[in-house]
Order: sequence, then structure tokens, then C-alpha cells
Amino acid sequence: MAFTLPDLPYSKDALAPHIDAKTMEIHHGKHHAGYVNNANAALEGTKFADETCPGVICTRLNDMPADKKTAVRNNAGGHYNHSLFWKVLAPAGKGGKPSAALGEAIDKAFGSMDKFKEAFGKAASTRFGSGWAWLCVHKGGKVEVCSTANQDNPLMKDAIGDAAGCGGTPVLGLDVWEHAYYLNYQNRRPDYIGAFWNVVNWDEVSKRYEKARG
Ligand code: MN
Repeated sequence: MAFTLPDLPYSKDALAPHIDAKTMEIHHGKHHAGYVNNANAALEGTKFADETCPGVICTRLNDMPADKKTAVRNNAGGHYNHSLFWKVLAPAGKGGKPSAALGEAIDKAFGSMDKFKEAFGKAASTRFGSGWAWLCVHKGGKVEVCSTANQDNPLMKDAIGDAAGCGGTPVLGLDVWEHAYYLNYQNRRPDYIGAFWNVVNWDEVSKRYEKARG
């Protein structure tokens, strides 16, 4: 079963003005589509062609033939990361609030929601070059913030070690590649990070938190 490009769960202008329609159109229709196509090309003809994502990026990455590993890491990683990203976004005012359990975990780890946003924003703004900021959940419910380069994901911990950041299950991610914000924000990555909080789908993040904490 080859990977396929998922539809956006809202129209491409639904997140404006925080994330503009043109950026969404290119980001989803060109960049994400490219990761899907390249992941399928890399996996074609291998015994991993039937793997589902994230299986192919987390548990099986080290089993890849050496000449496929980097392409799969980058492109199946890109596919997984973007599939998560679209779902943890929602039009402003439609994203609900963190659940009581998630709110408590955030308070426990960071002190407050504002302190969490500060830590997450710092991870996003200090990522040099391209990458992601993540809120991750460990078994039992402890949450942690980290950042990864390129299309690496905390789920890859067993395969790539420290490059996977804090490990655990990412339940919120922010793409800080320039392609995610440059049309609208140019070099102002901090403005994009600030606007992101208006379009977080807390209902979805809370659901994923419940599942990930076990
Ligand atoms: Mn991207």
C-alpha cells in the first residue's frame, strides 16, 4: 500500500490570516505531495513497501537498506510530520481548549500554559535552518518540548538517537521550514510562531494526548 496525500481537513484559506491560503496550497499540494511521491519511490520494490507510516519511520528505519534509509527518513518522515501538522491545526476559534488532563500535564512540566508556549516557541525559533518544534508525550503522561532538524521526528528515537529530540509521541508539531511561512512572514519566524497559537486544534491535541499517555 503506497502512501497517499491526505486531504486538508479544512479549506486552504481557513487558517488565514494566520497561515495564508497560498502558503497552504503550495505547502500541502507541492511540498507534502513531494514527500509522498518520494517516499513511495524509495520504498517501491523493497519488502517495506507495505509498511504503514509511522511504522516505516519509527520501528523499521534501521532495517532499511543503506541506500534507502536517508530517502525514507526524509520523505516518509516528511509525510508523517505534515499529516500530523494539518490535523493539529484548526480555523481560529474552532480549536477548542486543552483537556483538563493535558492542561495538568502542561502545568506540571512547565508551570503554566504561558510558560509552555514560551518553551515551545523557543524550540521553534532557535531551530537553526529547517525543522520542527514538538510537544511530546511519554508513557504515563509526562510531556516534554523539543525540536528536530529536517523531517526527523521524535518517533525515530530508536533509529536515530539524539537527532530525534526528546522521543515519546509527538501530539503537537510546528513546521519551521521556510516553506511553511516565508510567503507571508518572510524572515519573521517569531511572528509566524506567535500566529500559530491562534490556529491550534486543542481538541485534536488533547485526543492524541489521551491515546499517547496510555
Ligand atoms: Mn513543511
